[in-house]
Amino acid sequence: MNIFCRLFGHTWTHRTENQKVSWNAGKDQAQLHITSDAQPRFWLECQRCSERNEAPTRDQVRRINN
Ligand SMILES: [Zn+2]
Repeated sequence: MNIFCRLFGHTWTHRTENQKVSWNAGKDQAQLHITSDAQPRFWLECQRCSERNEAPTRDQVRRINN
């Protein structure tokens, strides 16, 4: 693991196979909606060490958006 990740935690970014897809929270803020018909693979990846989170929770995704 990258030393900075060890100290500060990972710097997650959105990754998806379809770059045109955008994620956004619905009015209720309780669910993420995907603005695409397809169901592309989606994951989080650390900018520094490239560690992947293949199944991020809604809270993890929301933390990045903020
Ligand atoms: Zn990292």
